Amino acid sequence: MATYTLPTLPYAYDALAPHLSAETMELHHDKHHAAYVKAANETVERLGNAESWQIAGLERALAFNVSGHGLHTLLWESMSPEMEQAPSGALAEAIDVAFGSIDKYLERFTAALTTIQGSGWALLVLEPIAKELQIVQVQNHDGAMLLGATPIIAADGWEHAYYVDYRNDKVTWAKNFTRMTDWAGAAARFDAVVASANT
Ligand code: MN
Repeated sequence: MATYTLPTLPYAYDALAPHLSAETMELHHDKHHAAYVKAANETVERLGNAESWQIAGLERALAFNVSGHGLHTLLWESMSPEMEQAPSGALAEAIDVAFGSIDKYLERFTAALTTIQGSGWALLVLEPIAKELQIVQVQNHDGAMLLGATPIIAADGWEHAYYVDYRNDKVTWAKNFTRMTDWAGAAARFDAVVASANT
């Protein structure tokens, strides 16, 4: 039995066009995300029969693939065919507290996504100690993440996320990601994290 399963996209492959083509979405979901899920399940199985010298490498592979699976699942939920949304409620207030304004947040998030060296992600996370929103830049899938922080929004900075539609123009990809951001979904995730932290 597989431990991890590929979630269905929450919208049609062409729902985010013209910002993301059906070709990009199909490749990204059906090939790239699916590959992380498959590798995560294979790694779990191999860990069960591993020699001691193999365990460190397999743990590394498990972190990479499970994090890739989790980040892509959040990526699909971070975007919406309902474009040009704005944050609302407690999340909007927390963004003002943490970044000064939504425009300042967008500027910093875009900078985080476009200045990754090589492959990685930009995330909006709730840091659990100060209980404050932060932007983090993640190398590959699992580098430099704050322990215990909960991602609210995930933006993929790997080339496969934008290359078919944007070629090397990562800046336009980043700007269009912010136009597709599902702020209603993000607000619901934020409220759920805050509620669970207060129980
Ligand atoms: Mn990706």
